[in-house]
Amino acid sequence: MFRAILLSKSDAGVDARVNEISEADLPPGDVTVRVDYSTINYKDGLAITGKAPVVRKYPMVPGIDCAGIVEQSDSPLWQVGDKVVLNGWGVGEAHWGGLAQKTRLKGEWLVPLPPALSSRQAAAIGTAGYTAMLCVLALEKQGVTPSHGEILVTGAAGGVGSVAIVLLAKRGFKVIASTGRLQESDYLKSLGASSIIDRNELSAPGKPLGKERWAGAVDTVGSHTLANVCAQTKYRGVVTACGLAQGMDFPSSVAPFILRSVSLIGIDSVMAPKAERVQAWSRLASDLDANKLDAMTTEIPLAQAIAQAAEILAGKVRGRIVVNVNA
Ligand code: NDP
Repeated sequence: MFRAILLSKSDAGVDARVNEISEADLPPGDVTVRVDYSTINYKDGLAITGKAPVVRKYPMVPGIDCAGIVEQSDSPLWQVGDKVVLNGWGVGEAHWGGLAQKTRLKGEWLVPLPPALSSRQAAAIGTAGYTAMLCVLALEKQGVTPSHGEILVTGAAGGVGSVAIVLLAKRGFKVIASTGRLQESDYLKSLGASSIIDRNELSAPGKPLGKERWAGAVDTVGSHTLANVCAQTKYRGVVTACGLAQGMDFPSSVAPFILRSVSLIGIDSVMAPKAERVQAWSRLASDLDANKLDAMTTEIPLAQAIAQAAEILAGKVRGRIVVNVNA
């Protein structure tokens, strides 16, 4: 038997509690992982509270991320004792996930833990950090360099935003952090932000084109914010869109794209191909300052993950939450 958060659904809504689960109940898969750490991402918040229909069947063990050790393997890719990381692939949505002491997964979903990282650090990075890395890689692929100008990060004090700031600053970019929590300005500057703006500047309906302000952006917010981010991007600049913290809508016009050659690049972490994941994790291992990662990370025990779900949806979580599933 092992402990896991189990979600069940009734007419009253989604119920989340820590349960004892038998290994025999684990879903099919060719690799069983003994989990060291999991995390709470925004999507885990949606799953645990039931605020959006991200869970496709019940009962479900949530947790879109985990890091741990292979305990049993029928996969040619993995041996007992290998250290692995899991992000996405519908785990925690359609397949039992990482907020548990054990999980059974498909071998092809797993990425080797980079030797420079501990499983706690990998979980602290989690889907949020790996998505931030995908955004930075996309900006680089489009040829954006520090000489082009500043990069805007929205939802800056959140998980994706915090990691994006550190990664961009490390590569020499000047980073503008957009936040609703101006009281976190010192925190954002300690991560590497050069300047801070109030997110209210971007969140209301705006004009199709505005003053050209940034060469690129990592947007975690969507809605009017993303529209304004595009409208204020410099000629031939690049915006990466990965999130919807303000909303899923995109009330924009074609003006930034046809008059300023702005590129809008969509970023999905869930089904990203393995080669991109391995590249992202390798860059995270080399670029992400361990002290800065530590400064943005709060550790909680498994049972507390349930309460943290509502907190992250309320925009109250700073940086990253790592869940010690064995505590
Ligand atoms: P967090 O909750 O940690 O961060 C989101 C941040 O957005 C908040 O901290 C807050 O930052 C800001 N925010 C919250 N509400 C609003 C609002 N109403 N208007 C404007 N800003 C707001 O979540 P994550 O960093 O884990 O995820 C960020 C987004 O990215 C989510 O929408 C998530 O679903 C998405 N995502 C997408 C992925 C993909 O594969 N495409 C993968 C990972 C995440 P502040 O207080 O600084 O303003």
